[in-house]
Amino acid sequence: MADVHSFESMAALDGEGLRYAIFLTGCPLRCPYCHNPDAWFPSGRDVTADQAYQKARRFKPYFKNGGGVTFSGGEPLLHADFINETAAKLRADGIGYCLDTSGSVPLTESVQKALDGADMVILDIKFPDPERYRRYTGGDFNRFVEIGRYCSKIGVRLWLRTVVVPGINDTEADMERYAALVKEFKFERYELLGFHTMGFFKYEKLQIENPLANVPAMDRARLDELQLRLNALVQLQPVGGGRQKND
Ligand code: SF4
Repeated sequence: MADVHSFESMAALDGEGLRYAIFLTGCPLRCPYCHNPDAWFPSGRDVTADQAYQKARRFKPYFKNGGGVTFSGGEPLLHADFINETAAKLRADGIGYCLDTSGSVPLTESVQKALDGADMVILDIKFPDPERYRRYTGGDFNRFVEIGRYCSKIGVRLWLRTVVVPGINDTEADMERYAALVKEFKFERYELLGFHTMGFFKYEKLQIENPLANVPAMDRARLDELQLRLNALVQLQPVGGGRQKND
């Protein structure tokens, strides 16, 4: 059983092919640019693994070209037992899954099992050094590094992502720090996402202070420049320019 924020059918982002996304609630981090603060809190909507599987399986005919289920959040790995239970049912039906995580949880046996069984992991890299990671998210940098290393060790397909915020992590020097950090990870792509303001209304609705209320959305051309710089540093082919998304 897990507390689910929402289900989204046919999400084309967050993994390959068409996805059935299961957004789980709770997150150990408080990223200042989070566009989903409503997922920080329980929704009161408890769903069993079988219910989640039954919902997802209806979309099986559309899971071609690498599609499948994506566990997202919040932080999905807070619910590793639920993911493993749902994954067993999905696997028995020939459906794979992707994990969209910030790697902000301890690498327990259950978390390892969830990572082991995934077709792909999308790992958010918040900030490239422990000090800024702690200052901006309140989280433990080492947990994320440990999960990145573990993914690299088991050889699961790994995509990396970073949200770029004007004035916070938008310099060439920042790209160098990110590139140095991921040197020991084995990954297929590293995509930059531009900070946007579309989630601001949620902060007002939830009456939570919005720490970036006065920060403008990331400039698209600048984001593309930084993506090219990062690609060169990590020696990747272009991934088609940065997208504007905050998670
Ligand atoms: S952006 Fe993701 S990791 Fe950060 S606070 Fe929001 S849900 Fe948590």
